[in-house]
Amino acid sequence: VAFVADSGIHALHGLPDWIQKRLHQTGQLADQLGIPLYLVGGIVRDALLGIPNTDVDLVVEGDGLDFAEHLARRFEATVRAHRRFGTATAVFPDRTKLDLATARSEHYPRPAALPVVQPGSIHDDLGRRDFTVNAMALRLNTDRYGERVDPHHGLDDLRQGLIRVLHPLSFIDDPTRLFRAARLEQRLNFTLESVTERLLREAVRTGLVDRLSGHRVLAQLRLICEETHPWAIVERLDGLQALQAIHPKLNASDQVRQAFSAIDREKHAGVSLPKAFWLFYILALVHAQDEQTLAALLTRLRPDRKLAACMAHLPAMRRLARAVTEERIDTPADFFRHASGLSPETVRFFAWTSPEAAVRERCAAYYLRDRHTRLSIDGHTLRRMGVPQGPAYGRILEAVLYEKINGHIHNEQEERRTALAVWAALQKKEENETPGKTGE
Ligand code: ATP
Repeated sequence: VAFVADSGIHALHGLPDWIQKRLHQTGQLADQLGIPLYLVGGIVRDALLGIPNTDVDLVVEGDGLDFAEHLARRFEATVRAHRRFGTATAVFPDRTKLDLATARSEHYPRPAALPVVQPGSIHDDLGRRDFTVNAMALRLNTDRYGERVDPHHGLDDLRQGLIRVLHPLSFIDDPTRLFRAARLEQRLNFTLESVTERLLREAVRTGLVDRLSGHRVLAQLRLICEETHPWAIVERLDGLQALQAIHPKLNASDQVRQAFSAIDREKHAGVSLPKAFWLFYILALVHAQDEQTLAALLTRLRPDRKLAACMAHLPAMRRLARAVTEERIDTPADFFRHASGLSPETVRFFAWTSPEAAVRERCAAYYLRDRHTRLSIDGHTLRRMGVPQGPAYGRILEAVLYEKINGHIHNEQEERRTALAVWAALQKKEENETPGKTGE
């Protein structure tokens, strides 16, 4: 059972000062304009639970864009309007932001299609939302400040720790909500209400996930992977058969779990921003799949070029890792030659997650050091040293680079010396390969 603030006012008082100040200001402006103004969505849910959240979402019963313009004039904010959706983002001189929307009603012309929207009341606006705990509003007009609007009894569900849809067609209207449900449930440590879970399983069973574009499915996977504890959500989705609805072979196997924990460790070490790890968790989710399944996932999810390359390079990276384990590749330069055609993130993923220490070390050395290796000499240097210009330049410089990666070269002088030696060797080889030339 969750601890929940006993009133809207109480919840609002728990928000950071800068948000409270903005809410009072916008409330007063709404009073002057004679329009009802509300705080809505995730921040209301989190404020009632006492969880930090700084995504301020406001809804006006009236023209949201017009209200944003007034806000801009009064507080010197800049406004970015998204006319098609009747929403706007106001950015204040102190760089704080808030989102404004016109209260609207929504209907879905067909399952999984994007909704048709029109202006409506706050009740309409809350009625189009996903779960009861997300469908509460707090009034911001001065005389009714903190008054809760909760037509779907979200507060009761918040107290009981339940994720409940507003109506039986919710997952059919928008199947992305089944991923949202698992994500919110695990994040808040809540439970899917039993009818909601049944509806969700039914939506999965009847193939509704197939109706979502790859882009929308991947966006949900990314949101999951940006959470603090993505593994719990992945495991839950597996239990709900929802991973398998994306591709029958996706699952929360031990191998996937181990990769997730390895990435967790890196994330908690805190070198990069936590959200930046999403790509590695996606790789963790798919990394154990065969080539054919990976190709099918690429077709299904249509990731952007970077993620697509990272996924597509997994099989080659796996082969490279095996070669390292079997000691068929045993110098840094040898590894470099094979790895330099792969996306660095795929190599980094193996540096973190491979069960083999030798693979982790090789991959880390490549990712952190070897791939950044540069020579002090170049083609100009070779020309000045009297090497005749030609295709040999590329081969010489490459050979010197490999020597440097292998740790046999420490300064420019050694680079020059090695270059000349390579050149001499190349010439000798050429002579041996064309015996007629010298013999006649
Ligand atoms: P988070 O904390 O992850 O940002 P949130 O609850 O703030 O979660 P957003 O994605 O920012 O979620 O959306 C804001 C609000 O819009 C939600 O609280 C919910 O009321 C509503 N919402 C978002 N996505 C949907 C959806 N697919 N269907 C219905 N309502 C939605």
